[in-house]
Amino acid sequence: MNLPSYVGRFAPTPSGYLHFGSLVAALASWLDARAVGGRWLLRMEDLDPPREMAGAQAAILRALEAYGLHWDGECVRQSDRHAAYAAVIQRLSEQGLAYACTCSRKQLEQNGGLYRGTCRDACHPLEEAAVRIRVPQLGYGFVDRVQGEYRQHLGREVGDFVIRRRDGLFAYQLAVVLDDAWQGVTDVVRGADLLDSTPRQLYLQELLGLPQPRYLHVPLIIQPDGHKLGKTYRSPPLAADQAAPLLTRALRALGQRPPADLADAGVEGVLQWGVAHWRVEGIPRTRTLAEAQLV
Ligand code: GLU
Ligand code: ZN
Repeated sequence: MNLPSYVGRFAPTPSGYLHFGSLVAALASWLDARAVGGRWLLRMEDLDPPREMAGAQAAILRALEAYGLHWDGECVRQSDRHAAYAAVIQRLSEQGLAYACTCSRKQLEQNGGLYRGTCRDACHPLEEAAVRIRVPQLGYGFVDRVQGEYRQHLGREVGDFVIRRRDGLFAYQLAVVLDDAWQGVTDVVRGADLLDSTPRQLYLQELLGLPQPRYLHVPLIIQPDGHKLGKTYRSPPLAADQAAPLLTRALRALGQRPPADLADAGVEGVLQWGVAHWRVEGIPRTRTLAEAQLV
């Protein structure tokens, strides 16, 4: 069965090398696309130069190639998309849907970090201020293909959120929504750490009249201390000569059941097996998996 209209993507942030957790997410996204003959795009989410690691972009591309996760078309860079983001912020602010916020860090820390909309009607100029989007007193939810139903009340649980930081950097929430629509992405497959970003993204899609992709959030691989991989220490690059065994391990983390000697088939053999046997129903329905407990 072919669904030629499937468009998936992988959208790494070049703040470090790919690690085993990002490999699990990339592999899931790639398999889900290739199993239905779909396209798979690559987008570098380089929105935050101060947090970017020198050489990370090139290393990520090299790792994806060594691991056989070939993408279609050119890699898109968010650093090339600033004009599109700025135009949308301008429009939202003219419509009164976005506004400038000049609150200090101290002010923002009050109320348990939930922003109270202090600047909503203050009409501060947009320049040199953060820009926030007004959220409605409504719940936004969706049915994730693995995690099931997920809902958040934007007013009570999230508050008016930042779409451009005070220092002028564009926020992930805005860029991801604009770019997924611009690239024609139909299916978002990513780590479950982004589950709680999804209702904000649904709201932005609705505001901007953009189509809503399907979502599949795979378990996040965590360290013994409970942190996401790559968070407390910088992960080393994925070893190029370990591609076949690590892909096989990633398949197991995704609840697929590869034969014990699959790694001997090499990268292409492992990936072919993965495409032929891809079962979304096998993916553990949990938000996290401890790396130490993986086989
Ligand atoms: N750039 C994000 C990350 O690396 C992923 C964004 C997404 O998949 O929506 O965590
Ligand atoms: Zn404010």
